[in-house]
Amino acid sequence: MAKRADGNSMSTHIYPQFFKGMWGEAGVKAAFVSEAAPLQPSGCANCGGSGRMITFIAKAGPFKTPSITGINKYHNGAWWQGENFSALCPVCQGEGKITEIKE
Ligand SMILES: [Zn+2]
Repeated sequence: MAKRADGNSMSTHIYPQFFKGMWGEAGVKAAFVSEAAPLQPSGCANCGGSGRMITFIAKAGPFKTPSITGINKYHNGAWWQGENFSALCPVCQGEGKITEIKE
């Protein structure tokens, strides 16, 4: 059972293997994951019930101001430029809720 994350902690969730591969690529300056608490009690705590997880891959930064091109993300007092990627939640396999224990 995944625990709910506090703030931007990247240690309490189970992330798609796809993300882990991207985070390790050359040229990646930073990576952040969008996290949300489930709206319903039966919702998947890992993805917040959406069935998908999103990661922002920063290729440039940190900057004091947002860039005029690309996608910008503000995190801990700094701006980063990069792209968002999504993948199926590895805990619920895209169901968005926990109906059974899957191995
Ligand atoms: Zn999930």
